[in-house]
Amino acid sequence: MSMAKLFIPGPTDVSPEILRAQDQPMIGHRSQAFSDLFEHIQSRLRTVLQTDHRVYITASSGSGLQEAAVRNCVGDKLLLCASGAFGERWHAVALSNGAPTDLLATEWGQPLTPDQVEAAMSQADYDTLAVVHNETSTGVENPVGAIIERARGLNPDLVVLVDAVSSAGGVDIPIDEWEIDVLLTSSQKCFALPPGLAFAAVSDRALERAKGVERRGWYFDFILLEKYLLEKKSTPATPAVSLLYALDAQLDRMLAEGMPARYARHQAMAERVRSWADAKFGLYAAEGYRSKTVTTVRKPADFDFAGLTDFLAEHGMVIANGYGKIKGETFRIGHMGEIMPGDVDHLLETIDDFLAAK
Ligand SMILES: *Cc1c(COP(=O)(O)O)cnc(C)c1O
Repeated sequence: MSMAKLFIPGPTDVSPEILRAQDQPMIGHRSQAFSDLFEHIQSRLRTVLQTDHRVYITASSGSGLQEAAVRNCVGDKLLLCASGAFGERWHAVALSNGAPTDLLATEWGQPLTPDQVEAAMSQADYDTLAVVHNETSTGVENPVGAIIERARGLNPDLVVLVDAVSSAGGVDIPIDEWEIDVLLTSSQKCFALPPGLAFAAVSDRALERAKGVERRGWYFDFILLEKYLLEKKSTPATPAVSLLYALDAQLDRMLAEGMPARYARHQAMAERVRSWADAKFGLYAAEGYRSKTVTTVRKPADFDFAGLTDFLAEHGMVIANGYGKIKGETFRIGHMGEIMPGDVDHLLETIDDFLAAK
């Protein structure tokens, strides 16, 4: 199989050592060995995510927890804030689960602002707010801390749901300080794990809300997940044991790098890609709100993107096309997880070679 470096916003490369960590015998999820593994993971996962909240681990991708968050937490009415394709997807998820939902959508490429959220909140009594932290389609990082601060000023009991699928583990998100009630993410982006696990840091306030919500479903029921976490140090249904071995090992690697160093590395790679892309093509996301993990680059109408991806494939690298309705006008470079600054330099130099040969 060809090995190409993945400069895409997920799945991201997994280090060989972490792939190998999966190669261990199965254990039953009601065994002491499993409870020990699960507890060991739990404490370090809280450290990595900077939270004292419990973190549920599900055998699903992040979309499963988008569904879980709305099913468990929406009481009377949800305000779903979207600034791109993944926010719009979450809106579709909320509607298909029957959650009473209003959509606040901004122009693509622009961030959501506290003013917009305040104006929307004055229109109805919302008890739940949902927002995507890092919009992977447009490459915009929304000012989630400022949005929550403003929103809570209007309704202190608000339950706040944050999708940080493409930023948690690579970008500084102080969950407890920002008072995020549910922060959800996937294994295959900044955590640099194989796909198949998702994590939700859940506050007491979110859990209290869930208790009053009927038809939370079963597989992602927070109350059930809580019961099994507390009483059995396990999950209600069979967990993805091999992936948990990988997670256990990867948490050690992340903490060995150090989270501040990890955030700084992502920031430095983002700055490098941005300044290059700004000079060569132009950036899609508004200045001041650009993602630290994925850069959405403007693609000229006559640009030979297929030629570029073929050229990069010959050099063992993959970048991503645009996503959703901006597929034709953008492409994306992911710089997250295992990607190192030297890898970014190599990628950009190779693209420069392609441009020079044109
Ligand atoms: C990738 C992504 C998702 C979807 O996550 P899956 O793990 O593929 O289900 C949701 N939101 C954002 C912001 C993403 O980047």
